[in-house]
Amino acid sequence: MVTPPAGQIPGIYHRQVGDITVTVVSDGYLMGTLDVLHNIAEEDAQRMIVDAFGPAKGRKTSVNTFLIHSQGKLALVDTGCGTYMADTGGWMMQNLQAAGIKTTDIDTILLTHMHPDHSAGLSDRNSWTPFFPNAELVFHENELKHWEDDAAMARGTEREKQLFFQATREQVAPYKKQMRMFADGDEVFPGVIAMAAHGHTPGHSMFNVQSGNEQLLIWGDIMHVPDIQAPMPHVTMAMDSDPAQAGATRQRVCDMVASDRLLVAGMHLHFPACSYVVRDRSGFKVIPERWQL
Ligand SMILES: [Zn+2]
Repeated sequence: MVTPPAGQIPGIYHRQVGDITVTVVSDGYLMGTLDVLHNIAEEDAQRMIVDAFGPAKGRKTSVNTFLIHSQGKLALVDTGCGTYMADTGGWMMQNLQAAGIKTTDIDTILLTHMHPDHSAGLSDRNSWTPFFPNAELVFHENELKHWEDDAAMARGTEREKQLFFQATREQVAPYKKQMRMFADGDEVFPGVIAMAAHGHTPGHSMFNVQSGNEQLLIWGDIMHVPDIQAPMPHVTMAMDSDPAQAGATRQRVCDMVASDRLLVAGMHLHFPACSYVVRDRSGFKVIPERWQL
């Protein structure tokens, strides 16, 4: 008798980019509401989700992290939700293990930005020690400044104060002796160039992985709900620090990757995330790439 599987296989997907190996590591997914979408009526948003075979109520949003193996070094891009969000998120650690990666193997952590679904998997909430003791924590020079700004925190809602400002402060603090900040255009890891994409947060950045004549743009949170924000890039999120800038950035980045036919991956593109973007009517369409051996 053959026993049927009791759970899903590990969420891991390897993608070669020239001499660099990128591994998409799933942190799971989050069920979200649609009232956080701006510039679209909730019922229109729900209809677009259902048309894309999403849930009948709300949205199901992938949370992805990435490993970059380059020149004998290993970087982790973002760290997922840790234990701060619903328990459908926070699976990165198990998937890292399934990928054969030990937490002590990680040399560098690159953060696209500091939000609980990206930076809440940095540190142990019991011991307040880094989960990645050998890793340097690397992020844009605008980013921590914003989350450490008491005046900005005071302007936030109670949820934002707890989940954005407080969570970021306590998750980053154990890395205080092992941090590095970058500016737009810096090579932050061998073959990885940081590109500013501000708006979602003041330091939100993308990482362009380049080797030989191949590229993969890990674009962070350029889209949260691709089924809506690809065709309608002007739809913004309640958690955007500067919604107008976030919308303009999404339009600019989509224009660029569509023109250059560039492979992209994102933290909230449906797993395993590697996709292309093409122009479609007045907006764009995300086309997942075909499975690679
Ligand atoms: Zn996010």
